[in-house]
Amino acid sequence: MQNDTIAAIGTPPGFGGIGVIRVSGPEAFPLVLPLLHRPGGHTDLPPSHLLTYGHIVDPSTYETLDEVLVAFMCAPHTYTREDVVEIQGHGGPLVLQRILRLVLAQGARMANPGEFTLRAFLNGRLDLAQAEAVMDLISAQTEAGQRLAMQQLRGRISEQVQSARHAVLGIIARIEASIDFPEEDVPTPQPAELRPLIEMAHQKVDALLAGSEHGRLYRQGLRTAIIGRPNVGKSSLLNALLRAERAIVTPVAGTTRDTVEEVANLHGIPLHLIDTAGITPSDDPVEQIGVQRSRAAAESADVVLLVFDGSERLTGQDKRVSEELRIMGFGSQSRTTHEPVNRNIVGAPLAGALETSTGALKTPAGALEAPLMDAITNNHHDTYANHEYAYDEVLSSSTRAMIVVVNKVDCPQWLEIAELQSMWPGVPMVTTSTLTGAGLPELEEAIADLVLAGRTLYSESALITSARHQEALRRVAEHLDASLVSLEQALPLDFVSIDLRAAYDGLGEVTGETASDDLLDRIFSEFCIGK
Ligand code: GDP
Repeated sequence: MQNDTIAAIGTPPGFGGIGVIRVSGPEAFPLVLPLLHRPGGHTDLPPSHLLTYGHIVDPSTYETLDEVLVAFMCAPHTYTREDVVEIQGHGGPLVLQRILRLVLAQGARMANPGEFTLRAFLNGRLDLAQAEAVMDLISAQTEAGQRLAMQQLRGRISEQVQSARHAVLGIIARIEASIDFPEEDVPTPQPAELRPLIEMAHQKVDALLAGSEHGRLYRQGLRTAIIGRPNVGKSSLLNALLRAERAIVTPVAGTTRDTVEEVANLHGIPLHLIDTAGITPSDDPVEQIGVQRSRAAAESADVVLLVFDGSERLTGQDKRVSEELRIMGFGSQSRTTHEPVNRNIVGAPLAGALETSTGALKTPAGALEAPLMDAITNNHHDTYANHEYAYDEVLSSSTRAMIVVVNKVDCPQWLEIAELQSMWPGVPMVTTSTLTGAGLPELEEAIADLVLAGRTLYSESALITSARHQEALRRVAEHLDASLVSLEQALPLDFVSIDLRAAYDGLGEVTGETASDDLLDRIFSEFCIGK
């Protein structure tokens, strides 16, 4: 238990019907009680977990600040497992600030971001994976993302991790008993005995890892850059994709004022589209910046939609855009994984799917010095710099892919499709009209096909959605592999045990038992104040 009492406004800034101030810690009740004036002049502690009506009055001036409902909640059945008070006032920033200031003046300390949840974790109410799920639940942008977060919050992931951890511990115990107490006649376990046990633990970890690549998409979304020369219909396409099904939009840290993040909902995966359509070259004092942003958008994207105007012949600008993307590594080394099923997909089969594109799409070192991508406008992704992808480097390199979009199919067609196909062999091509909506469902399917590589979409089962968990579990799998190799090579059991311990610790990182302070700081600092 922490020994100080913390307070913060728990509702988002701005104006609302109600706003909540949260206070947690051993002094929560004595700090708040003197501020609450109840009908009948009661000053005793009201019953726990019930709402109490009254007014918040400044004890030094006797000014009544607000009419409130207050919940006094006794430990341990609270969010933090400490005594908690929640003051429900009117949802105005000034009102709430003034009440908070009173609480602080009474002796509470302003809570750090995520500190309530940190306390819930430190006091054992939530493990680390569950604590992270709180943040995921709050920031979920699709129902699928929300359901996955809720499963994690309820401990589905933690249970499976603990089960694997328990299995590994059992093996360590057997080995170490024989090493530590040879004189007690503890028999030395034989490799033939240990191998199936380790393999069983490995299977548990594999089961967690299976689908984690996709699980992460539900949480983090798919960075999608819409690229092409001016006037091919990029902005129209963006709007059309949004119209189809818009996800809940949340503000992104670091979003500049001239960009808006738009999020479409692709079968439960938040499809992040960046709209810079408001910036025209004349508004942009340094056009170079726009060009660099477009290049950055393509570079950081999971999927690039390269748009052409079907009603016109290929232009020099079209070719320059293609050339630039090719220099960046798009379209190279793509491999066919399965056939598309969509009517509107022209010609070549899908390529560059999830597992096959790792590394292939990385930008060559010299690419930034390449000729200016002057034909590319709009749609940049530099806002992701400070986004929730802080510890995510896997997704962009492993799922970045490309689709050629031939737009304006409602008009007479002049585009040389064959030439386009020879420019982008093996890259899926979809024809669309943002005007009539033709081809848009097929485009969505093509994106889903590309990133999910034919696997099933979201199911009700628990899925690893966090890059951190995935990374830790991969290390665990490697250590289990290494322990099997040591067994195979008949190395002393100490060697087997070292890797098993590392695997055990790695599993503990997911649930928090072996998480370092640095890691905890990093995780909880991403939370909002009051959570
Ligand atoms: P951007 O410069 O690539 O973003 O292109 P815009 O989205 O601004 O579109 C350029 C012009 O093409 C606009 O006049 C759009 O109305 C028009 N346009 C966009 N998509 C279509 C389409 O599918 N069919 C037709 N006929 N016109 C379109």
